Amino acid sequence: MSFPDPADYIDIHTHHGVLLPGRDVFSVISLMAHEEALPVPLPGIAYTTGIHPWYLSDSSYGDQIAGVAEAAAEGSVIAIGEAGFDRIKGPDPAFQRKAFEDQVRIAGEHDLPVVIHCVRAWDELLGAHKRLRPSRPWLVHGFRGNRDLAAQLLSKGMYLSFWFAFIIRPEAGKLIRSLPRERIFLETDGSGADIRDIYEKVSADLAVTVPGLKNIIYGNYMDLFAKV
Ligand SMILES: [Zn+2]
Repeated sequence: MSFPDPADYIDIHTHHGVLLPGRDVFSVISLMAHEEALPVPLPGIAYTTGIHPWYLSDSSYGDQIAGVAEAAAEGSVIAIGEAGFDRIKGPDPAFQRKAFEDQVRIAGEHDLPVVIHCVRAWDELLGAHKRLRPSRPWLVHGFRGNRDLAAQLLSKGMYLSFWFAFIIRPEAGKLIRSLPRERIFLETDGSGADIRDIYEKVSADLAVTVPGLKNIIYGNYMDLFAKV
């Protein structure tokens, strides 16, 4: 298992599995079970694995969930996910719920956090959190909601990683300034955006230096993923 350095830019959620990061970028690659890619140990890279709600299918579900359980048991991933709920795309809510619960159970068995994909299903997510009482925090990726929603998720112990195209907007500065720094992450989601540019923008929003922001996010990474 590779760990970031305090001087790294940490990209907490990316799908660029083929590009090796630059020396100063640490990438958490989000493997999706349907892609059947394996978490190959490499410096500067960590992995999560899960079944994305868009790609749930009855015929392959058994194999996919077995693959997720296997990766968790091998210790080759730092979290389960992305997993969650999508009301725009994906199968019926009952199937999404079952798949999410199965993945949260696997995460619980191996004491892992879960990376969340959630589109217009926040009540469902909060209900699942209440019902399943996870042992480790959840990390909501691609967040682009308002302050009230952020506050609600944070009150459940969750971490927030912001949608790359949202966080670079001028108006996102106000939101990020209002949030506890010890619960934030940044990501490209494999968009081709440069994580360095995102750090630049957010460090200006928070009135800290880029090395200062690296330190904050490195600390958050170690709090969430380094088991003591
Ligand atoms: Zn993603």
